[in-house]
Amino acid sequence: MTDLSSLIEQSAQACARARRGVALTGAGISIESGIPPFRGKGGLWEKIDPMKYAHIEALERNPAEVWQVLFLGIADHLTKAAPNAGHKGLHRLEQMGVLQTIITQNVDGLHQAAGSGDVIEFHGTHARLRCMSCHQSALWHTVSLEVIPPRCGCGGFLRPDVVMFGELIDTALLQRSQTLAATCDVMLVVGTSATVEPAAYLPVLAKHNSAFIIEINPEPTPLTHRISDVTLLGPAGEMMDRLVNKVADLRHGD
Ligand code: NAD
Ligand code: ZN
Repeated sequence: MTDLSSLIEQSAQACARARRGVALTGAGISIESGIPPFRGKGGLWEKIDPMKYAHIEALERNPAEVWQVLFLGIADHLTKAAPNAGHKGLHRLEQMGVLQTIITQNVDGLHQAAGSGDVIEFHGTHARLRCMSCHQSALWHTVSLEVIPPRCGCGGFLRPDVVMFGELIDTALLQRSQTLAATCDVMLVVGTSATVEPAAYLPVLAKHNSAFIIEINPEPTPLTHRISDVTLLGPAGEMMDRLVNKVADLRHGD
């Protein structure tokens, strides 16, 4: 058996035993759907300076520029994207009773599009806009973008309902995610560089509760060899396919 096959076998055995599995996903799982990540090769940060555009102070100072450079660029990718084998594999694990919840740092809605039922949008969603003055929200596709930035009925500027640098995670979402991480028996960490806090701490919490941590990423991360029990070094689509097929084999063999 190759090293990778044996790692997939070990991961599948942990999944087949799991009753309270949780997945933590990041930008990497959506790369095969055509959505670029922030960091690394081909990432958005190669083209734009995050502190200049992705910080809440930048939005407050110059909403039109942040809309033009960041939000409309991201939206252009999102409207063309469909779930890939990585998202579909996580949905299959939910159907098999392995996964309870997906905690995603992504704002693209692709887990829900793949059919996953319980998705915590840790960093919010691009599909919803929120007024910077009265906080009323509206769905992206119902708002006219003829004038940028678009405005709320109250006259305030609308912005995507996402968490920007310098902003806090919603307390209820953070608490629920921490509880799930601290009580899960398996955590799948897929396509995240594990550098953005507080999401990066969730696998550490899971590990402290003796959960089995399976990481899927073509590159090692700060979790690799320290927190992850197994790291499947490869793209999310192929690795999820192989893992899910193996879990299905084990379940049928029961
Ligand atoms: P990141 O950009 O920091 O890291 C992406 C990770 O994906 C890297 O570790 C990289 O090695 C890995 N990767 C590359 N190709 C992959 C593949 N085919 N399969 C699996 N993994 C692959 O992403 P992050 O850690 O999620 O953090 C950044 C923040 O960026 C998040 O908070 C999120 O809000 C935001 N973001 C979201 C989207 C989206 O919604 N799709 C896209 C870009 C950024
Ligand atoms: Zn308003």
